[in-house]
Amino acid sequence: MSSLYPYDCHARRAPCRAKVLVAEDHEDTRQLLRMLLEKRGLSVVEAGDGFEAVDAAEREQPDLILMDGGLPLLDGIAATRRLRRLSALSAVPIVFLSGHAEPQAQTDALDAGCDEYVVKPFEIERLDMVLRRHLPGRGGQHDEGV
Ligand code: CA
Repeated sequence: MSSLYPYDCHARRAPCRAKVLVAEDHEDTRQLLRMLLEKRGLSVVEAGDGFEAVDAAEREQPDLILMDGGLPLLDGIAATRRLRRLSALSAVPIVFLSGHAEPQAQTDALDAGCDEYVVKPFEIERLDMVLRRHLPGRGGQHDEGV
């Protein structure tokens, strides 16, 4: 019997889909990411600024964080640094989503503790690659179009 939720730990009884925190202040982008992630069977938590991102990460203990670089109040770099200082979140994968392609911007994000740097706008395939890499076996599987 195949489970409706491929990410269940114990089929039917205890759903434990991988959880992704989407820290992004641009509403349309956030909704698009939510839609894409949910379509891939993932559970999504949203944050609209850097403080919210840190709070939501502490509260929700996500399996992956997609961190917009240009967040209000506390930018993506500062939020990432804060997260890396929290022991419970020191190892959660953080993928930085940035509109800046310059090597220095990438270096800064990686120095702050991000695992990967993705330049926006990006293709859906790039997102799937990120999910496969950071949520192995839990996030890259879907066989429909967007
Ligand atoms: Ca932004």
